[in-house]
Amino acid sequence: ATPINCEPLKSLVRTVPDFPKPGILFYDITTLLKDKAGFAQMIDAFAAYYIDKDVDLVLGIEARGFIFGPALAYRLNAGFVPVRKPRKLPAATAKVTYDLEYGSDSLEIHLDAVQPGQKVVIVDDLLATGGTMEATTQLVRQLGGIVVGLGFAVELDFLKGRAKFPDYDVYSLLHYN
Ligand code: AMP
Repeated sequence: ATPINCEPLKSLVRTVPDFPKPGILFYDITTLLKDKAGFAQMIDAFAAYYIDKDVDLVLGIEARGFIFGPALAYRLNAGFVPVRKPRKLPAATAKVTYDLEYGSDSLEIHLDAVQPGQKVVIVDDLLATGGTMEATTQLVRQLGGIVVGLGFAVELDFLKGRAKFPDYDVYSLLHYN
């Protein structure tokens, strides 16, 4: 199947200069999410791409991966798993810490969220440097899951985050240069 052309959806993504701090251009997908045709196209495009990959679980990264990950999981007849910021998940977790520009951050997943051998797609709203997604792939590997895809609504091509994932299939709906 030919992948759905999502370029027209770019007009629904709002860019906000200097958010959350000076010098950052923020790609705001809330304007895409609230558009009924835009939101449907977004989920349709992801679903078309992953439908034949026998996906068991969609993992969403807090917080914006929680917004469309479950809609995709429903369409794939898969389960949904939240990957969360520290101290949010109630049961036993695996934890990974990764470097940010200044300092570090951590993500957690329930130890029993992924069974060994399960096929997993991980989604987030945006691929920048890839640090957040790389950390999440480590969590999945720790639990013995098989990462069959990394999905993003937006990819900032110029940051070359994709280069962190030579062994994974990276699929982004919208590309910015
Ligand atoms: P990174 O780990 O550098 O790939 O950053 C990706 C994470 O930070 C994602 O969870 C995004 O939601 C968020 N993010 C980074 N840069 C931006 C940006 N310019 N606009 C919106 N979100 C961003």
